[in-house]
Amino acid sequence: MKNIILLAVQGAGKGTLAKALQEKYGYAHISTGDILREKAQKKDKVGKEIKALIDKGIFVSNELILEAIKEKITGPECKKGFIMDGFPRNLEQAKLYDDMIEELGLDGGIAINLVLDNKLLIERITGRRMCKDCGAIYNIYSKTLKPKKENKCDKCGGELYQRDDDNEEALKTRVDTYYKVTAPVVDYYKEKGILHEVDSVDSEKTLKEVEKLIK
Ligand code: AMP
Repeated sequence: MKNIILLAVQGAGKGTLAKALQEKYGYAHISTGDILREKAQKKDKVGKEIKALIDKGIFVSNELILEAIKEKITGPECKKGFIMDGFPRNLEQAKLYDDMIEELGLDGGIAINLVLDNKLLIERITGRRMCKDCGAIYNIYSKTLKPKKENKCDKCGGELYQRDDDNEEALKTRVDTYYKVTAPVVDYYKEKGILHEVDSVDSEKTLKEVEKLIK
């Protein structure tokens, strides 16, 4: 198994794929968005600052993100491998991450870019629902990812909610930022020769494709 860096515009299915790989192979799923949402729940100064940024779709500082990543990848849950979801988000993060991996003597692994049509993206984002208790991801417009009971998690029965930044205005900022700031990270990994492009229309087919790459 190889460590994976998952790249893709918001809503392309990074979280769903990462959770599937986690369940099947024991990869640790490192979602910088989840880490930040957890920090944002705290009512202290830092928590409030983070919440204000993520609700608008604006990046938090590289320093804060790198520190959080380092804490995770050196932890015991990453021994079987890990999947980066939502990081690196800009070229500077990608380079700092390379230095960190080398310094820690870890495997850089492969990068996977999930590719999806723009029309489908809007549906993926506006239909997305997440479980308050276990973080499972659903989509009310998808045949395979629709929760069996409305607003209830299939796995733990927890209540489902819609992320505060899954609205059209924040989405516009997030998608614009992706094309301006994150897309160069895809080229960076292409030049390094570790990038794989995988179609992300059908989540089961996507998983099979990725399984071929990691075996
Ligand atoms: P996500 O769940 O990946 O869509 O992330 C939600 C929000 O968290 C983003 O819109 C950013 O505000 C913030 N965020 C997540 N990952 C990063 C990162 N690597 N660098 C900076 N900000 C991030």
